[in-house]
Amino acid sequence: MKLKEALNLSKEELKALQDELLAKAKESDLNAYVGFECAGEGVPILIKDNIQVKNWSVTSASKILQGYIAPYNATVIEKLINAGFAPTGRANMDEFAMGSTTESSFYGATKNPHDKTRVPGGSSGGSAAAVAGGLAIAALGSDTGGSIRQPAAYCGVVGFKPTYGKVSRYGLAAYASSLDQIGPITQDVEDAAILYDIIAGHDSKDSTSANVEHISIAKNLDANKKYTIAVIDNYIAEASEDVQKAYELAIKALEDAGHKILHKNLANTKYDIATYYIIATAEAATNLARFDGVRYGRRAEDVKNTHDLFFKTRSEGFGEEVKRRILLGNFVLSSGYYDAYYIKAQKVRHLIRDEFNKIFDEADLILSPIAPSVAPKLGSIEDPLEMYKSDMFTIAINLVGLPALSMPIMKNSEDLPVGLQLIAKAFNEQPIFNAALSLERALNYTN
Ligand code: GLN
Repeated sequence: MKLKEALNLSKEELKALQDELLAKAKESDLNAYVGFECAGEGVPILIKDNIQVKNWSVTSASKILQGYIAPYNATVIEKLINAGFAPTGRANMDEFAMGSTTESSFYGATKNPHDKTRVPGGSSGGSAAAVAGGLAIAALGSDTGGSIRQPAAYCGVVGFKPTYGKVSRYGLAAYASSLDQIGPITQDVEDAAILYDIIAGHDSKDSTSANVEHISIAKNLDANKKYTIAVIDNYIAEASEDVQKAYELAIKALEDAGHKILHKNLANTKYDIATYYIIATAEAATNLARFDGVRYGRRAEDVKNTHDLFFKTRSEGFGEEVKRRILLGNFVLSSGYYDAYYIKAQKVRHLIRDEFNKIFDEADLILSPIAPSVAPKLGSIEDPLEMYKSDMFTIAINLVGLPALSMPIMKNSEDLPVGLQLIAKAFNEQPIFNAALSLERALNYTN
């Protein structure tokens, strides 16, 4: 059942739907849910394990937060409840949203419903796998460098990363504060617009929240509007054959639907990964400094003094990938390296932004790959650098703060979904949804 259909159900029918989804999730072997709580009555929405829901466990899939219970609702949760929705279930994720496969979770990996030997993507892998696998009608995820869009693409569902500042981060466990955004993962474009409309808007509790009015996307959806869409030729050269095929298919469908395609190149893409992994780890190291065994979650036992308490709690509580990023982040922020790495990365971030804005002088939208390939096999990425490289198409969007929607385009010869993303100028989100709807109708993709 789609979200828009669930909106027409009676209270009793919604309760039955909630029970049915939770029962299915408990039986499922996907490991998409890591908690089965529900907050009231209404249209059930699955919530990633880094978003606070009052009185629910919230752990960011980390050992260090085991036992921590959220004392308040995130703003997005307040908004959902006020709109008649019911947060239902906890979605699995990579620990502290650091990862691209959902394998770094304390609760174990989530599986891709299209092929259980493959990853669902990450870090919002639980959210995407549940929506694709019929265990949730829609979900919330968070996207710091692709974590909504990439799992959506691997699982054949729709995921939207809003413009930075459009959705409140109040109550979202911070990974990299200048990059994080909460967004919807749904079965289709219209559902994404409906859910996004509910969670978007200014919030005085988040100092980076943009004070702009949110105009309903769902009410203004128009698949007949025509746009100029840029495709980045040097991007596509780096993608697999499957992704290139999806690109050709999408370009043809967009042209047939009356959109104009512009061919462009981006010169600074080779700096994206280094820039992102300097800024994201610097912010992560800072944000994660608060987990010391005193204030939140799990505390190490048998400690001799305060230093020992911090040391043991953090050594035991954080997983390998999180530790790697704390080390990297503290390194790039340390005196002597701060100018060479952190400040330089901030400068390159401006270059990347300027390049995108130049394209938006001529085009309304950009069509781009999400991942270089389809979902990889579970356990197949051992080298962290290889994993970081797979983020090459998504991270620039967060560095620049742009909105982007990931949608399924086709399935490859092994029946695995291939997705692409539509990107727009900051705060100009309606064209993304309009063009995505026209593409969705033209392609008729089914999961
Ligand atoms: N894969 C990227 C990272 O590990 C993005 C994760 C995310 O968007 N939360 O940082």
